[in-house]
Amino acid sequence: MDLKRSQFTKRKPIRLPFKMNRDQNQEILTMLQDIITIKYSSAEIKKQREHIGMLLMDRSSSISSTDLGKISVADLKMLYELYEQIFFKGWIKQHWKGKLQFAISRQMTKTAGKTVCFKKSADNCDLALEVRISLPIIANYGTIEGHDLVGGIKSGSRLEALQLIFEHELVHVVEFICFGSSNCKGKRFQALAENLFGHHNNYHQLPTNNEIVRHRLGLAPGVWVEFDYQGAVLKGIISHIRKRAGVMVEDKNGAYQDRQGKRYSKYLVPLQLLRTLNNLQK
Ligand SMILES: [Zn+2]
Repeated sequence: MDLKRSQFTKRKPIRLPFKMNRDQNQEILTMLQDIITIKYSSAEIKKQREHIGMLLMDRSSSISSTDLGKISVADLKMLYELYEQIFFKGWIKQHWKGKLQFAISRQMTKTAGKTVCFKKSADNCDLALEVRISLPIIANYGTIEGHDLVGGIKSGSRLEALQLIFEHELVHVVEFICFGSSNCKGKRFQALAENLFGHHNNYHQLPTNNEIVRHRLGLAPGVWVEFDYQGAVLKGIISHIRKRAGVMVEDKNGAYQDRQGKRYSKYLVPLQLLRTLNNLQK
């Protein structure tokens, strides 16, 4: 599940059944019929999600509150068992004998979750899938007010955010089982995610490390900043922010020119090294 910063637009609800290609075999069709006929109401989804959260807190040795504190691979396994039982009614185990494993990633700093398929063969039973959940994204939960949407749903706690991310990955698992491939930008995925879990889109708006730094420092395009460069203090205006900020500094020999004919050089500066300027300091 990827990060998307821009506001999402409401999509028309996708109707089922999907259009199937003629060459998709009967076995897949039968298997799919079971899963695509599941459609929960938003009330049922909410109730089941809460129930799973309660059971996880009850059974886990590391999780005792919705704030999580610590999560382990064993917790993810437990979460899977609960979803398989409560949302999927045993569908995954009934239709698939492949290997499903779980991991907690420290490297994933923007993506909240990822489902990786290791083996592909004509027989999808031979697949090995791994669901990875980002530790930094879970840890950063709640650091920026209002950055709490996952799949278009407002999460009320860190535990609920984890569940929403996990649900998205479980839809990937279902798609891999049925088709050997999965894409959350596809209509098929989106229809499954909407019917099973009420997700309206395929991204999260949880804070990333970069956003937290930016937020704390008040950095945004158009803001005046200064930074130290080779013994001097340079002042300029932020043009864009990614991992580092692009800062336009006035320079008569610079490669960039504005409409008034002023020339600038562009510096790519790590966010932590920038200091914001007020009107008098510009
Ligand atoms: Zn995805």
